[in-house]
Amino acid sequence: MELECPYPAGIQHFRPPYCPRVDCPSRAGDGPAFRFRSRGRYRRACDRRIVRRFHCHVCCRSFSVQTFRVDYQLKRPELTAAVFDAFVSKVTQRQTARCQNCTRATVRRRLILLSRHAREFHDAVLKRARARGSLRGRFQLDELETFERDRRLCPVTMPVLIHEESRFVLHVEAVALAARGGLSPRLLVRKKQLEAKVGVRRSGSREAVKRCFEVLAAALGPSTGAVLATDQKPAYSAVLSAVMGGRCAHERHPGRAARTVSNPLWPINHTLAMLRDGLSRLVRRSWGVSKERDWLARHAWIWIAYRNYIRAFTNRKKRTTSALRAGLVSQPISKNKFFEWRVPPLCWTTSEGSQSSGSLCAGDLRGPLP
Ligand SMILES: [Zn+2]
Repeated sequence: MELECPYPAGIQHFRPPYCPRVDCPSRAGDGPAFRFRSRGRYRRACDRRIVRRFHCHVCCRSFSVQTFRVDYQLKRPELTAAVFDAFVSKVTQRQTARCQNCTRATVRRRLILLSRHAREFHDAVLKRARARGSLRGRFQLDELETFERDRRLCPVTMPVLIHEESRFVLHVEAVALAARGGLSPRLLVRKKQLEAKVGVRRSGSREAVKRCFEVLAAALGPSTGAVLATDQKPAYSAVLSAVMGGRCAHERHPGRAARTVSNPLWPINHTLAMLRDGLSRLVRRSWGVSKERDWLARHAWIWIAYRNYIRAFTNRKKRTTSALRAGLVSQPISKNKFFEWRVPPLCWTTSEGSQSSGSLCAGDLRGPLP
């Protein structure tokens, strides 16, 4: 079962490879084998498409082809492609709702769905890369600063980790920074009020950077070395050596150097510039800024799916993507293909460094069932 194309026979000749009920005994490692039979079909109300149903002989419950698809339980599945385009094209949620003639709640729910799918697909790609040992080379990390609600009182940092040659984004976080200094008397009063309400705002930068390095360490596998380039922020060296020991060489470059193509940190600087250009929440001096950083992180994962797997690598290299250049997928993926099937709950590793035959892991398929 290939991650990029899990069901090559398509929706017409679909055969369920496993029971989608996470508590089905067949999903347990030592449980009975999955057996099913066809149980008729129904016409989907939203798009009049015929959907086949199945019955699981193990847990004696039914499910349909839709249970395996990203557009499961959507009343307006036709919105997905347009809303995805808006999410990566600097269009705000309110404007997206106006353009697509839907409510803002619909856009928000689609953001949750698409970001969850993007994250699950990305995690599966990294897990497979670890099993195959296909990720190697040079990496770069830097932090993008933005804010939630208030620029001075509630700053936010986003550490972004990329593969240098392919610009493949490995990980992103959105965490709080402490309030800025030199506040006016009016802002000092507001700061005190905020602290009384939600506590003192502390920086989560170090922990977020640590999580980025842990993702890198996990994706590389236990014996693969790497080179990481960052600016000269003192914390990076200590966190990197704590997480990866001597496996990762660290290059430090002046962060205040001109951000031109001759700057060694150009790949990460360019990636952060593209992120700012793609996300409406990151546009400076606008009212589209995130009110809560968790939503910013969700939105960023949709952009990462677009950057890694769907967008052409450059305007001149239209037939390749970042993930393809990094050797992590076998083909470019269209947005319709990317958001067609939910990520199969496969174990890509059975033991360190070996690829599995596609055994199932109970509990990996999240989300409601009919
Ligand atoms: Zn079952």
